[in-house]
Parts: sequence; C-alpha cells; structure tokens
Amino acid sequence: MDKIPLVDLQAQYRSIKKEIDAAIQHILDTNQFIGGAPLADFERNFAKFCGKPYAVGTSSGTSALYTVLKALDIREGDEVITVPNTFIATSEVVNECGAAVKFVDVEEGSFLMDPELLKKAITPKTKAVIPVHLYGQSCDMKAISEICGDKVAIIEDACQAHGAKQHGKRVPVTDIGCFSFYPGKNLGAYGDAGAIVCEDEAFALTCAQFIDHGRKKGEKYVHHALGSNYRMDTLQAAILDVKLRHLDSWTQARRKVASWYNELLDGKVITPVEKKGNEHVYHLYVIQSRDRHGLLEHLHKQGIMAGAHYPVALHLQPSYAYLGLKKGSFPISEQFCESCVSLPVYPEMTKEQVAFVAEQVMAFESARP
Ligand SMILES: *Cc1c(COP(=O)(O)O)cnc(C)c1O
Repeated sequence: MDKIPLVDLQAQYRSIKKEIDAAIQHILDTNQFIGGAPLADFERNFAKFCGKPYAVGTSSGTSALYTVLKALDIREGDEVITVPNTFIATSEVVNECGAAVKFVDVEEGSFLMDPELLKKAITPKTKAVIPVHLYGQSCDMKAISEICGDKVAIIEDACQAHGAKQHGKRVPVTDIGCFSFYPGKNLGAYGDAGAIVCEDEAFALTCAQFIDHGRKKGEKYVHHALGSNYRMDTLQAAILDVKLRHLDSWTQARRKVASWYNELLDGKVITPVEKKGNEHVYHLYVIQSRDRHGLLEHLHKQGIMAGAHYPVALHLQPSYAYLGLKKGSFPISEQFCESCVSLPVYPEMTKEQVAFVAEQVMAFESARP
C-alpha cells in the first residue's frame, strides 16, 4: 500500500486541474489581483452556500475572527469565552484585542462546548462567546444562543465546518461565523484565506471596512475608521470559487469515508460521535487511544500519516501559562487532548485505503495490554 496522507491535496488538484488552471489564467490575463469581480463573485456564492446574505473574504481564518472581535468593539476589560480543545487562533485573537480569554470545558462524547458550563462561566464582563465547530460538527447552537440572549455576542468558529448542518440549517446557525480556507480545510485555497459570514448588512460593512484600512467599497482616499489589511487575494477567491462548486460532493465523499471507518471500528475503539440533528462534515475523523504516542508511531511506520488535533489543551500551552490554570482545570478537554488521533480522511480516499488504516489501528489497539 502506498503512503496514505492525512489529506491528499494532489489528488484533489488532479481531479479539477482544468477548471483551476483556467481560473488562475483568467486572473493573470486580467491583472485583477486585489478586489474586483472574481472576489465579489466568490463572496456572494459562499454567502449563498451558507444560507446567509453576506460574506466578507479575509486573508485567513485568524484574521476573520480578529476582524469580527474588532467590529464588535471587544477590548481591554472585556471577557470572551471559548473552549481549550481548539486551534490556538480561536483564543489568540481575543488576546490580540486586549480582552481576557476564559475557557470552559467541553461535553463528554462530542467534545464540543458544554452549554451548561458556559452558562456558569458568563459574568457581566462577558462580551462574546466563540463556540468551535470542531472537526466539522456544530455545537448545540440552540442551547448556546438561549444562554447568550442578546447581551452576549456569538461568533461561530466554523473554520473546520464548511457546510456542516444543524437541524437542516448550515453553519453559522446564528448571526456570525468565521471560516478558514487554509489549504487543508474542507474548502481550501492555495495559500491563506478566510471569510466572515453574517446576517446583518451594517455588520458586514464594518468588517469589510476594517479589513481594507477603514475604506468603503469604491472609495480610495477616505479612511472612515482605523483598520488594517486583512483582504483576501483575488487569485485565492478565483480558486475557491471553482472549488466551492465541488464542495457538496466532497462533503458526501468525506461522510462516506467516515461511515466506512465507523463500520470497521465501532465497538473496537472510541470513534467520533455524530450528535442527533447534526450533519458532520468530517474535516477530521478523530478516534481515541490510551497510547496515542504508540499508535501514531505504529501508523507512521505503516505509511499512514495520522495526526493529533490538538495534543495539548490551550490552557496548558506555554503561551497561556500566565493564566495559572493547572492540569485538572478542564478534565474532559485534557483527557481528550491526550488521547485523540486524527485518521486520514479526504474525499478521494478509497475503501481499500480506509480498510488498511482501520486494520492497522485494530492491530495496534488489540495488541496493547
Ligand atoms: C484553521 C483554524 C483557524 C485559523 O484559520 P487560519 O486560516 O489558519 O488562520 C481557527 N480556528 C480553527 C478551529 C481552525 O481549525
């Protein structure tokens, strides 16, 4: 068996090469590197895909999250709540605004934000909550929005959840969501890119201004507010617009791969839980092992490029040592971070490849004392 990567971007490119090459060529021929129709087209199409009226392209998922916090005027003295088992970008942007990061633990089973713990953590200083749709599955947005009411803003970190549904509705289920188009994400650019998707026109305009030095669309010399440069490259927008047309079929293929893994692994190892009412898009297929290090080593030796997302809970990272949160602060996240193993999952993966990975997982897990 050839090497099995965690995600096979080469296979994807081969399958859409003609369309991609033509889209890139068009940008080169027309010299539209910043702004322009291809960017506006992608923003409109991606908003529509999400079932929302507005999308603003950004330079990354991180800058999308940061821009939303700035647009909500989150600042020093404010508190923002998120979970410790996520990519550090989710919480880093809170620090970047000068606000305080507050973590809450996740639910057993889904490993998504626990609404009951969120309820207890909210204080008069809490300005926003960032639920993370980890691995492609939506948090319980009904419970979270009831708890937040209209006092606390909700920013859905949908960076891993393009097209994920809750009760038939795509994320963001509430008003504001941030996406990453990092190459390995379910919808990936050929470089860095991201987007903010939202319900409110004024909010979309505030974000669009912030990412372009406080300028309004079409105006060049008036800077209405202080902002920065977090624009999406037009070249990336053109690539993403091509890929967006394939996203639904890729999602179905990912779900198929996950169902093959489930068939082979259920009952033998701890497999991912898809909560009732959710349509998981399997950015990652994550199992748990009591010997994560050993299992990864075994899989790597077999040419299976499994990974760990994320091996260390954020409050235990050196950069968050200042919070003084010891091991034991968020037991469910910590236990999960110590045991999680991401198996390869991508739309082009074959049943034979899945069977080989599952076989190797079981061989290691059953040989363990
Ligand atoms: C990828 C990711 C981000 C950051 O996106 P970038 O485009 O890499 O800046 C934020 N949050 C989560 C959960 C992610 O997976």
